[in-house]
Amino acid sequence: MIQISQRIQQMAASATLAMSARSAQLRAEGIDIINLSVGEPDFHTPDHIKAAARKAIDENYTFYTPVPGYMSLRKAIADYFNRLDSLTLAPEQIVVSTGAKQALCNVVLATINPGDEVIIPTPAWVSYVEMVKLAGGKPVTVPAPIEQDFKITPAQLRDAITPRTRMLLLCSPSNPSGSVYSRDELKGLVDVLAQYPDILVVSDEIYRHINYTGAYTSMATFGEIADRVVVINGVSKAYAMTGWRIGFMAGPLEIAKAVTKLQGQYTSGTSSIAQKAAEAAYTGSQQCVEDMRVAFERRRDLVYRLACGIPGLKVSRPQGAFYLFPEVSAYFGKHTPEGNEIADAGDLAMYLLSEAHVATVAGDAFGLPGYLRLSYATSDEQLTEAFRRIAAALAALA
Ligand code: PMP
Ligand code: GLU
Repeated sequence: MIQISQRIQQMAASATLAMSARSAQLRAEGIDIINLSVGEPDFHTPDHIKAAARKAIDENYTFYTPVPGYMSLRKAIADYFNRLDSLTLAPEQIVVSTGAKQALCNVVLATINPGDEVIIPTPAWVSYVEMVKLAGGKPVTVPAPIEQDFKITPAQLRDAITPRTRMLLLCSPSNPSGSVYSRDELKGLVDVLAQYPDILVVSDEIYRHINYTGAYTSMATFGEIADRVVVINGVSKAYAMTGWRIGFMAGPLEIAKAVTKLQGQYTSGTSSIAQKAAEAAYTGSQQCVEDMRVAFERRRDLVYRLACGIPGLKVSRPQGAFYLFPEVSAYFGKHTPEGNEIADAGDLAMYLLSEAHVATVAGDAFGLPGYLRLSYATSDEQLTEAFRRIAAALAALA
């Protein structure tokens, strides 16, 4: 008999990727699905980045890469922090991995012992809890519903801390809520963290450049805690490079060394060609990033307006990323035209998929039931049509 480890049996599959695979399958069957489930820019990777990848192949960047990444790329990332946050980082503090996903998992596996507690403000991206469980750690979720704009307060953070707390996993702009912590809000959290020197702060900044507030503060810029902040970022979202699989961690040298040791046994250095492309992304013109941000902001305005016009949806205006996270419980207890009851957000997501042919993800996957996540990283036409269909399908519930 084939054995599957308990580790994997206890793991939930990625709901975002599962819903996306399901909609791809339905599309292949000829059904006109509008996929608002996966968080992925619909733009093509900018031309100068693709050109750098072609050049890398021609110049035979085809051998194993150094485990923590090419030095030239790590220097380019160190320059990026210097340019944006006036931070001075040694390239040795940076480890490049196969996406921000691996970078995050590496940091969790390299620092968390069985039984250690990791505080996860919720709603949170689907993979955080599973990564912590993989390390044997205990995820401690702290709920931040729509009434508090999906952001935890310093008092909530303080209340969640115990002698076993080893990490805070913070994401701003947030997936799935689109909330962005202001400098003052972060300072409130930092004041609490300053009293607990054993807590590592992992700051997932993957949506940093998809921000509509006009300002961004990185957790790494607070002197009080700077020596125990790990920043996670990568090229997937800002440069429309999800398939290239380049992300990184930047933080304390000891953690970079531990992560390098893990990665050396596990995956080795990531793709040579993708690394050269990422280097072009960080060193080239940043106009493409701004152009995409502007497009996402326009779509944010569009979907917010459309969602506000649908009765029963409670919506907050997202300040970043490309997700809308409406509260949908007004529909619970209603029935579909076929007589099936909508008991929760999972039922509603399945109903919208089968009835409206629009793929979304239930908030349960992000640790907050009662909500739906809709990604607006698609064209204005598709978004307008998706909301027309959603409104019609919801109106048909009785
Ligand atoms: N963090 C968050 C919050 C994300 O939404 C994603 C996107 N899947 C990632 C990390 C991982 O990004 P990557 O594609 O670079 O692995
Ligand atoms: N970050 C994206 C999402 O949340 C990509 C899918 C994934 O890696 O989970 O949809």
